[in-house]
Amino acid sequence: MQHDKGELNGTCNITACKTGIKATWYNHSTRKHYCPECANRLNTDPFNYRDAMRMFGHVLCTEVKQKNEKAINVRGYVRGRQLATTSHR
Ligand SMILES: [Zn+2]
Repeated sequence: MQHDKGELNGTCNITACKTGIKATWYNHSTRKHYCPECANRLNTDPFNYRDAMRMFGHVLCTEVKQKNEKAINVRGYVRGRQLATTSHR
């Protein structure tokens, strides 16, 4: 029994799922998370597709956009360049 089942970055909500890929896709119907392969399978199911389009206006499962941790490093890089420029004067 996985305690992170269906959680974001946890285990895929499909019990029989064997991909071992992190659950990064959100199912708007079950409100649980799935691995990309199961999410794709759910999205391409004709019944799910039609229901999702009617209820949500988009496909059933959508990938969760996770915050970009590199944004902090970009500022440090810019500051480093400015220091290098002033040392040449
Ligand atoms: Zn899965």
